[in-house]
Amino acid sequence: MNNENPAPEDAPIDEVAPAEAVPTADATPESPASTATEPPAGQASESEDDGPSFADLISDERLLKAVRDVGYEKPSPIQAATIPALLEGRDVVGLAQTGTGKTAAFALPLLQRLDPKQKTPQALILEPTRELALQVCEALEKYSARLPGIHVLPVYGGQGYGVQLSALRRGVHVVVGTPGRIMDHLERGTLDLTGLRMLVLDEADEMLNMGFAEDVETILADTPAEKQAALFSATMPRQIRRLAESYLTDPVEVNVKGKTATAPNVRHRYLIVSYPQKVDALTRILEVENFEGMIVFVRTKTETETLAEKLRARGFSAAAINGDVNQAQRERTIGQLKSAKLDILVATDVAARGLDVDRISHVVNYDIPTDTESYVHRIGRTGRAGRSGEAISFVTPRERHLLRSIEKATRQTLEQMPLPTVEDVNATRLNRFDDAITAALADDRLGFFRDVVEHYVNEFNVPELDVAGALATVLQGDAPMLLEPDPEPRSRDRFKDSDRARGESGREPRNRRTGGPMATYRIAVGRRHKVQPRQIVGALANEGGLAREDFGHIDIRGDFSLVELPASLPQQVWDALRSTRISGKLIELRPDKGGRFDSDRGGRFDKGGRFDGPKGYGKKDRKFKKKF
Ligand code: AMP
Repeated sequence: MNNENPAPEDAPIDEVAPAEAVPTADATPESPASTATEPPAGQASESEDDGPSFADLISDERLLKAVRDVGYEKPSPIQAATIPALLEGRDVVGLAQTGTGKTAAFALPLLQRLDPKQKTPQALILEPTRELALQVCEALEKYSARLPGIHVLPVYGGQGYGVQLSALRRGVHVVVGTPGRIMDHLERGTLDLTGLRMLVLDEADEMLNMGFAEDVETILADTPAEKQAALFSATMPRQIRRLAESYLTDPVEVNVKGKTATAPNVRHRYLIVSYPQKVDALTRILEVENFEGMIVFVRTKTETETLAEKLRARGFSAAAINGDVNQAQRERTIGQLKSAKLDILVATDVAARGLDVDRISHVVNYDIPTDTESYVHRIGRTGRAGRSGEAISFVTPRERHLLRSIEKATRQTLEQMPLPTVEDVNATRLNRFDDAITAALADDRLGFFRDVVEHYVNEFNVPELDVAGALATVLQGDAPMLLEPDPEPRSRDRFKDSDRARGESGREPRNRRTGGPMATYRIAVGRRHKVQPRQIVGALANEGGLAREDFGHIDIRGDFSLVELPASLPQQVWDALRSTRISGKLIELRPDKGGRFDSDRGGRFDKGGRFDGPKGYGKKDRKFKKKF
């Protein structure tokens, strides 16, 4: 569950050349971002890459296969430093945040050292929260998928004892638990730690922040002295140092804290998006953002190919590079990116190392990176040569916690951006269409085509506007010019939205002047026409004779706007507004199809715009019915 993006079975294993240097005791692995000299663009390759491969670190083929199954390309810095030390049997103190890949850093060596025959727990992992305990359990389950008969048990408060007791009786190899519940089991004598050989204190600072200091010390004191211990913490306050000094023996210290910041000319934004929404979110961003060149970072080699393919299918010029792409092909692709024959490169961290292409205006973290160093390195691909750059990171709801560590490491604030709406996309499409017409009007061939069109107009006696429309249809082909509106939000969401529009009160909006009900109307001018709320109020108030208090919420969308007005608008208002224009465009006022239209009798306009009121409504209402 830790990895939201498992690669299919065929994900190729990393083929990094034998490691030159596996970080040793006390070493601080050098991050890509802090490397002084980067290989020039087009020359970085897996073989030149620093750091070991998983095969250099782990000897158990089954674990290597599992790592390949989850799609990891190469060990993260903390993995490169921690795995060898733990496999040697050393204790480890790791100064590392979540998102650095620290779970695999302790889980892989721990799994390799398990004895499947021993039935009492051999490894205990302490986590501050139930969520983390479950997350780590699921990661362990993935990594041990090819180790038959290995049992991992989550033990946390809030779950009944029954399940935990019967699992413990059957025998488990690894217990992942929160301190409180582990203490309970120890007090009841239901958790036998006499055979414990490995102990991990994960997120030690969080554990202390949550008031578990005493429990942790009691548990530590209850475990055999002869065991291997590892402690991971995002910060190293004095209390944690003391804990490490008391309970760990001559530990190897690993520090993967980012020490670099990104360029000030880069804007950092993030988008909360679920995994299945990512492709659509990226497509919308590609439509609305004004980008020149873009690198989209994904976690696995397989994903580079599949995503590039999906983008090509949606009409974008995209190509994949990853560690398996050979040097000649890689150089060709980067050459195309430089010369604007290609706009989007979908890459893994390794493949994009050292890439230096000035026209990269955007970096998108389709998968948020596993450590802050990678974030810094990735974002360094944009904002080059003094240009400004844009960084957009996709964050799934459960990855939210990574944002804080990125902000800390980059010393930049990440600004939340909304998912571009269908209206935004459509407004951009229409603007681009306008721009294309403007550019074509300056084209040398205009005179020639004017003659061609003139001939048609005279020959077939068709208005010029119709001919222009027909030509646009030819140009557009079969693809629709505009996206279909998003499906109606589910009823629960709709309720929330309307609550918001009603100032959180949950009550129906009322007219501030008369206290009567309000309804949502649509006018045919929007952001595309550069309209402002004050223009809408001005035009409708002046020409329709409405008072300022008659206006409720105004929502300006792509090429239309929604306005709350009294539900029963007198006929003279309709008549007066029929010819009203804003920014030169007829407003075409009508009740919004999706919106409600509550009359005094509780009726409403249905989706077809027909008034669906209770029987016996008056003559005045019938006029409405006719009108719509
Ligand atoms: P962690 O810091 O252990 O919570 O890991 C953060 C995320 O990085 C998880 O989604 C892991 O599945 C993923 N991850 C861990 N190691 C690697 C790696 N070597 N390559 C790619 N992703 C990884």
